[in-house]
Amino acid sequence: MSTSSYDTPVLIAGGGPAGLAAALLLARHGVPPLLVERHAGTSIHPRARGLNVRTMEILRTVGLEGDVRDAGAALATSRYMLFVDTLAGEEIRRVPDADLLPVGEALARVTPCDWGRCAQDELEPVLATAARAHGADLRFGTDLVSFSQDADGVSATLADRATGAHRAVRAQYLVAADGAHSLVRESLGVPMAGLGPVSRGQLGHFVNVYFRANLSDLVRGREFILCFVERPGAEGLLLAVNNADRWLFNVEYDPDRGETPDAFTPARYVALIKAAIGLPDLDVEILSVLPWEGAALIADRFQAGRAFLVGDAAHVMPPAGGFGLNTGVQDAHNLAWKLALVLKGTADPALLDTYEAERRPVARVVVDRAVRELAAPTPDGAPAWDGPEQAGPEDGAWATATATPWPSSRRSWATTTPRARSWWRTELTRLAKLTRLAKLTRLAKLTRPMRAQRNWT
Ligand SMILES: Cc1cc2nc3c(=O)[nH]c(=O)nc-3n(C[C@H](O)[C@H](O)[C@H](O)COP(=O)(O)OP(=O)(O)OC[C@H]3O[C@@H](n4cnc5c(N)ncnc54)[C@H](O)[C@@H]3O)c2cc1C
Repeated sequence: MSTSSYDTPVLIAGGGPAGLAAALLLARHGVPPLLVERHAGTSIHPRARGLNVRTMEILRTVGLEGDVRDAGAALATSRYMLFVDTLAGEEIRRVPDADLLPVGEALARVTPCDWGRCAQDELEPVLATAARAHGADLRFGTDLVSFSQDADGVSATLADRATGAHRAVRAQYLVAADGAHSLVRESLGVPMAGLGPVSRGQLGHFVNVYFRANLSDLVRGREFILCFVERPGAEGLLLAVNNADRWLFNVEYDPDRGETPDAFTPARYVALIKAAIGLPDLDVEILSVLPWEGAALIADRFQAGRAFLVGDAAHVMPPAGGFGLNTGVQDAHNLAWKLALVLKGTADPALLDTYEAERRPVARVVVDRAVRELAAPTPDGAPAWDGPEQAGPEDGAWATATATPWPSSRRSWATTTPRARSWWRTELTRLAKLTRLAKLTRLAKLTRPMRAQRNWT
């Protein structure tokens, strides 16, 4: 079939970070796609904020490293993980990111890039603008309603959400970047395996509250990326968005005690936030609220015929560790150049089989890692999730997994038990090995601040 029989070479469903990255990368390879996103614009809720070095490398190759740093400039000074009673009250611990991540010279030996910080609601417009500039056709307010595929292509029905008008399009390939509840994945009948939130709840139920309040004086000089608040009754995780007046507060709720996100009224959020900050008279405005459940799931297949799953459509992981957006962008990067070469006739379509072969194992390692970052200790100190036998994947690829607690969100546990000390050492050694920096000097430097903590015996 000639290319003129198609409306677009590639139809992308979903305009989150994975879909936008796919659109940009395809367009830059000379294959401008059609992207449809059901929302009227890019995300209004700043979910992800951390961009790892690989994502920054990809952004660098498309000339956007500087633009993204500019968009996230307000977070550039966020260098700490804080543990506090309340933000205005006692500070329990301050861990600089240099003690958790390879930085500076050590990093410069392996990459020209550094870690990036940019809230998702600031990043997405940068990707969208660049994708459009390179010829991608981005249609917001447009739903992918249904699709079918045959040997030559994909036929899809789109709906304009404003008018309700339907339109048929024909594409050579379909990229499903339509998120965790992917219509494409479900229509293809591709199951997900792993540790879901619904059946067990071990990974927790949370509400991510985006709010406005002027906290700049409270954080100046100790700007954080994460701040664990430990005040009983107001426990939660504060996340910086612009280090001035936009923040996120992440609170856990317990469905076993009859709690639901709906039970949290705006007034209750405001009260919780004031208590966590420790300023009863603080002006707080709730901007948006995003309930989420910790899940760890991977699609059995990342490809079905001419359709490819990327991002959360292919793998869902807890946000701990900040891997979700990054893994999606990296999926898109892997797929885009392959699709482009095949569409230009430079490569055999068999090249596309390597997408799943390369990205699914990566997703499994990353999902495992995110689970370990999130899992909190049970009261007796045992891990909440104890490894792959509960997770259900068919082979041993998750066998490296043993649930380990999120570092020291529980101060007493994390600073006093032998198990905690052993966990820190294991994690730090792993980090050093992973980054090929497993040198004793580095390890000594990494562990010194931990040993110096109070209660560290
Ligand atoms: C509280 C929280 C904090 C997080 N923090 C981090 C972090 O620090 N670092 C990190 O890397 N990740 C983080 N994540 C994860 C990250 O936000 C997601 O992994 C990322 O958004 C996934 O991108 P995506 O493009 O695959 O999917 P999404 O962002 O979910 O985008 C999918 C898009 O598809 C659209 N869509 C769905 N169905 C259709 C359809 N039929 N037709 C048209 N459009 C459709 C949706 O409207 C949506 O915009 C966090 C997540 C949460 C909830």
